[in-house]
Amino acid sequence: MNNNRYKILFVEDEENIRTFMSALLEANGYQVILAANCSEAKMMYFSYVPDLVILDLGLPDKDGSSFLSEVRSSDSTPFIVLSARSDESEKVRLLDLGANDFVTKPFGSAELLARVRTCLRNFCHSSDGGRLPGAKFTLMDMVIDYDARRIFLRGEEIKLTQTEYNIIALLSEHCGKMMTYSAIIKAVWREYPDDGNIKRLQVNMANIRKKLGLRPGNNKYIVNELGVGYRLQDES
Ligand code: CA
Repeated sequence: MNNNRYKILFVEDEENIRTFMSALLEANGYQVILAANCSEAKMMYFSYVPDLVILDLGLPDKDGSSFLSEVRSSDSTPFIVLSARSDESEKVRLLDLGANDFVTKPFGSAELLARVRTCLRNFCHSSDGGRLPGAKFTLMDMVIDYDARRIFLRGEEIKLTQTEYNIIALLSEHCGKMMTYSAIIKAVWREYPDDGNIKRLQVNMANIRKKLGLRPGNNKYIVNELGVGYRLQDES
């Protein structure tokens, strides 16, 4: 048995989904730890220290988001939230609580597996290394040199404004995580989000995408979840 497998804590109260998904995750090389409610989830989380948590929100004892916010205050293990609710304000709330991604129920198993792979891979090469001397960030053919505050695409420098650079650098430090408009605006402009600065963010992002050679609908590097936020990721 390979002990280097990623450990995934799967929290779900519906037994058929739990059984099906744990078999599927095991078949794809993951080690799976199961929990059926919030208190089990907490116990398993602290006993097994998983690499990733897949969390259903509708749990019998408490709302799953209470588990997320409790754990999030102490560490940064990635969370994928499963939610039957799909409204934008709910997604924003969960992301601001610290979820890395969300999948709306009912979901396809291929979709969830793809999110798991993206989340684990991005989490592994995301870092707070941006503040360390000499730190560089590489994503496909893009390189960010944090010391020089410069960005290169296939070796060619992309000329960004200070604001555009700050946005990309911020997303790179949270690579793989969907960042809400509000989180980006607070970090880049130190303002509370309103229609004006959301518009400003969208204009900056459109310019960044243009400079990276991305056409609308092309999600290479940057994924836009309309009404929610942006994510930097290493596969579309
Ligand atoms: Ca449920």
